[in-house]
Amino acid sequence: MSKYLINRYKTLEVYVPGEQPKDMEYVKLNTNESPFPPSKGVLDRISSEEVSRLNLYPDPECKKLKQKLAELYNFNTENIFISNGSDEILSFSFMAFCSEEVGAVFPNISYGFYKVYGDLYDVDYKEMPLKKDFTIDINDYLNVGKTVVIANPNAPTGLSLSVDDIEKIVISNPENVVLIDEAYVDFGGNSCVELVRKYDNLLVVRTYSKSRSMAGARLGYAIGSKQLIEDLNRIKYSTNPYNINRLTLAAGEAAIDDNDYYMSCCNEIVKIREYSKKKLSDLGFEYLDSDTNFIFAKSSIIRGEEYYQKLKQNGVLVRHFSSPLISDYVRITIGTKEQMDMLFDITEKILQEVSL
Ligand SMILES: *Cc1c(COP(=O)(O)O)cnc(C)c1O
Repeated sequence: MSKYLINRYKTLEVYVPGEQPKDMEYVKLNTNESPFPPSKGVLDRISSEEVSRLNLYPDPECKKLKQKLAELYNFNTENIFISNGSDEILSFSFMAFCSEEVGAVFPNISYGFYKVYGDLYDVDYKEMPLKKDFTIDINDYLNVGKTVVIANPNAPTGLSLSVDDIEKIVISNPENVVLIDEAYVDFGGNSCVELVRKYDNLLVVRTYSKSRSMAGARLGYAIGSKQLIEDLNRIKYSTNPYNINRLTLAAGEAAIDDNDYYMSCCNEIVKIREYSKKKLSDLGFEYLDSDTNFIFAKSSIIRGEEYYQKLKQNGVLVRHFSSPLISDYVRITIGTKEQMDMLFDITEKILQEVSL
């Protein structure tokens, strides 16, 4: 840290991304990426012709991509906001809709970035405890008079709220924005995107990183009322108008044309997830009933941290969180069937070793 850094940033607890070690080839089941490559249409679009236009700025309005997304979900382009990963929408939303005066509420076990943005933007936020079974108690979010941020399905639990419950939260907080982060919704969750037609305080946030195999391209989008989207644009045009690079824009457009491919990848992941649940049961693990592309699981034989370490020594990465509330668990991303079978084989070996 330099002596020049402004005081309020000195104590920030920054977000820690899942590790990406380069010392060897790991089976990567730690950051919820898709194990499947982008579609052929995306590969073809990133041609040398496309690359040769990198001397030109990209379209700051992302018109074509907005049109494609608007068509896919049957909204108008004025209801769509495009961002550099959905993290950027979260950042812009905390800036636009939260402050010391306008507080925020989110679950105490959820996506780690909510708290980081809350701190970064000096937001008066409150973390609501999950119930014993790791579900969200919607009573904590009714009539709170603060900005509500909920990942649905939640991470790292993988559990979903119903659209009815989301609607109750939206109705009961008419003076505040309710942001629903649907990063994992394509794997079987309940999308509340249709509620956007009825409520102007609901913002639904999506990403290409999980279900559209484009974590490396950094692309996210939000669907909301025209006014909310205008607010996000005020922030965007005050920070980084060219937030989406040309190649990512082109890839994002091509991916929508190949929507069927991505939906079949999601189906495949759901199948492997259900297979994996059974294998984990056979190995004596307990897990939450995931609607996502990961499983939050714990063993009665080995602690979360030790299991994570031993898997890593054997070339498999999963995510372990040190927060005491969830430190018994690991979060396992669903990979290909082959990757999962490697995980299960190694796990069997590890469990045998520790039981000796
Ligand atoms: C992965 C994830 C994000 C961030 O996605 P990017 O689009 O890659 O920035 C946002 N919210 C949740 C809940 C996530 O798991």
